[in-house]
Amino acid sequence: MPGLVFGPGACREAGWRAAALEITRALLVTDAFLAEHGVHEPVAAVCAEVGVEVVVHLIPVGEPTESTLARAGTVAREAGVDGVIGLGGGSALDTAKVAALLGAHGGDVRDYVNAPLGGALAPPGPLLPLLGVPTTAGTGSEVTAVAVLDLPQEKVKTGIAHPLLRPLAALCDPDLTAGVPAAVTAATGIDALLHAAEAFTAIPHTSRAAPATPAERPNYQGSHPLADVWVSHAIELVGRFLERAVTDGSDREARAGMMLAATAAGIGFGNAGVHVPHACSYPIAGLKHGWKPPGYPGDGRFVPHGIACALTAPAAFRLTHAALPERHREAARLLTGREPDADDPNPLGEAVRRLMERIGVPARLEEVGYGADDVPELVAGAEKQQRLLACAPLPIDGSLLERVFRDSL
Ligand code: NAD
Repeated sequence: MPGLVFGPGACREAGWRAAALEITRALLVTDAFLAEHGVHEPVAAVCAEVGVEVVVHLIPVGEPTESTLARAGTVAREAGVDGVIGLGGGSALDTAKVAALLGAHGGDVRDYVNAPLGGALAPPGPLLPLLGVPTTAGTGSEVTAVAVLDLPQEKVKTGIAHPLLRPLAALCDPDLTAGVPAAVTAATGIDALLHAAEAFTAIPHTSRAAPATPAERPNYQGSHPLADVWVSHAIELVGRFLERAVTDGSDREARAGMMLAATAAGIGFGNAGVHVPHACSYPIAGLKHGWKPPGYPGDGRFVPHGIACALTAPAAFRLTHAALPERHREAARLLTGREPDADDPNPLGEAVRRLMERIGVPARLEEVGYGADDVPELVAGAEKQQRLLACAPLPIDGSLLERVFRDSL
């Protein structure tokens, strides 16, 4: 786990932390929208105060692609930096991870991408020292060991996953999220909820075959008691604070509650894993780029990650409920604060759907441009996410995925 600093003002430790890691010249990776609003300035200032030089690399607004990640790697190498600070939502943090990887070891992005889409090469050694400063309360990327990217040629998203990608320190400052637009607060908050709820309802780690050697233990191990500590708290926090944070972005208690939820969910799911909704999200986000959520920054048209996950969550939890009904009921109780009816076939999925409705997250694939004709391609894309599907509490094949997509139309 990285060093964790949480609370208003936490980002002001960035300079001290960078110096303590012996960084003298840092690549500060952030996005153009954040830079325009000066969100990175306090971090650049505290680095300058302790003599850490900062080279700012701005990524385009939108989610990382193979080419934007390759560009960040090139910039890290050409700028001669000896450390990286990621400041932003998951897009900037994931780009910072890859900049730290390519900056230290070179190579092509594709070399390190998960198989079968990439070479699944392990980093040959430690990355450039990396700090994560989240400005959205959602992905938990500041504490996870994965970077997610879009592969436009294959029309699918995938990742680079290795424990060395986890930042050495995460500075979680909820005040940085004060200006996050409501649409982004909603999409990122539902992502945090699904990280937690999927990790809580994943296959128990004791039900999986033990790895032959420690090296073969997957990052995503299945639900286990330590991950439960983090994700059960995260589910509760989302239930208390997400709607408030969306309704009134200046509600500091709600913003802090959501940042805590997102980072706690990140620690939990980063070890336990996520399953069907996340596996389905990758083709939803990758296949079509024809929709833009109202109120989302930038000109790009795409289904933001949190929304892509949420679209199939109610149907996916209906399916997985049958395998682990008690866990699903418990997750629903944590989210709503109420005991679900004993005979409710989908208390978690319905609780998630009601929350989506209240915070303005679309609930049907048709609302974001998908129809029945797209289902075969969506199923094929989700089937490629075996790393995630292996964490589902029941075996998932193409026909079950088809049912989830059709029920979500
Ligand atoms: P994002 O980083 O793309 O940011 C969304 C929008 O919010 C951007 O326009 C950004 O400029 C704006 N924004 C961010 N912080 C702001 C602030 N403080 N004030 C105003 N505007 C702000 O969105 P995200 O949901 O945080 O990240 C999505 C990416 O993260 C996707 O690529 C997703 O697949 C990936 N992801 C990674 C992990 C992981 O563990 N590495 C986990 C989940 C998702």
